[in-house]
Amino acid sequence: MSPLAVARAEIVVDLAAIRHNVRVLRELVSTGSTGEQVQMMAVVKADGYGHGLVASARAAREAGAAWIGVATLDEALELRAAGDTGRLLCWLTVPGEDYLPALEADVDVTAWSTTELAEIAAAAAALGRPVRVQLKVDTGLSRGGAPRCTWADVLAAARAGEDEGLWRITGIWSHLACSDEPDHPANAAQERRFVEALAAAEQAGLVPEVRHLANSAAAILRPSSRFDLVRCGIACYGLDPAPGVTPDLGLVPAMTARATLALVKDIAAGDGVSYGHTWVADRPTTVGLVPVGYGDGVPRQASNIAAVSVAGNRRPVRGRICMDQFVVDLGGAEQGDPPTAGDDVVLFGAGRDGEPTAQDWAEACGTISYEIVTRIGGRMTRRYVDSGLDSPGRPL
Ligand SMILES: *Cc1c(COP(=O)(O)O)cnc(C)c1O
Repeated sequence: MSPLAVARAEIVVDLAAIRHNVRVLRELVSTGSTGEQVQMMAVVKADGYGHGLVASARAAREAGAAWIGVATLDEALELRAAGDTGRLLCWLTVPGEDYLPALEADVDVTAWSTTELAEIAAAAAALGRPVRVQLKVDTGLSRGGAPRCTWADVLAAARAGEDEGLWRITGIWSHLACSDEPDHPANAAQERRFVEALAAAEQAGLVPEVRHLANSAAAILRPSSRFDLVRCGIACYGLDPAPGVTPDLGLVPAMTARATLALVKDIAAGDGVSYGHTWVADRPTTVGLVPVGYGDGVPRQASNIAAVSVAGNRRPVRGRICMDQFVVDLGGAEQGDPPTAGDDVVLFGAGRDGEPTAQDWAEACGTISYEIVTRIGGRMTRRYVDSGLDSPGRPL
């Protein structure tokens, strides 16, 4: 694209915001409940929650994230191919996957069953040097992880593999079900079971480098869940993991989703807007066409509900969100010049200039901000900026 060309629709990611958020979180958690140093893992799965896998990881590393976390082996390999050499954990595999490239690239892989350990053992034997494995125990989420009834077998197999020189068990971890409700009794129950699982591992002779349980919400809201390492995803991108509960930490949303207004036109009272005429103008008004839709991850549930900012003024979505486009109402009071085609449309951003946030869109659509930022994209281009907002002396 020529540098002068206008983007139809793009995602703008402020890398300084990611660095700032990671530093805020590191500082917050740097002493756990027991006063030990707590390390930080920045989670960049799912293309960095829509912010870009490689760029997000790089920004997090620059801000001192000792660990990066991803879901899949492919995500881990993509980071290695991009030059990331730090500690890197992945945790979601299926039977028959090829562990060898990730093990060769010094990725910490996760196992929760003796079957997985056997597959990793075969790959480690082929590699001919000890690999890094973490064990995941299910303490109450009932999703991934070894159920308590198999934990002793998993530990025995893990210990045997260590004795054979196949691997080192570098970590033991679990994941919380209700971390955004810090006082939910499930949190204390999971912490108790995690401590029991750690004690069993110690009895089996395993000495992991890191023990970890907390995601963003728990890292922020439950110091007792921090152990040696916290795995923060959403908060690194500046979004609130537990809206209404989290104290104001000064996190800054890193993503702005914006478009260029394609068209402005007047409609008459009684004119219906978009498919199904689910909105009909009750007065003459002016509408604008925003050239993104559910094909770009704009949720169709936002039809007639969400708002955007057009040239700095909030404007409601009218009618249904279509695959490639939607309509906003430009009538009514505004500051500045009347809107024209070519104006800047901010779907959501940091919220500092009155524009909606991903959290606003999430609330409008009955979902969470995670889903809004992770799904937005499609044909939108992504552009990285560095506002320098984390520079010393720079007011936030
Ligand atoms: C996605 C994920 C995280 C990060 O969760 P956030 O709520 O975004 O902080 C942490 N741990 C695991 C296992 C995850 O899958």
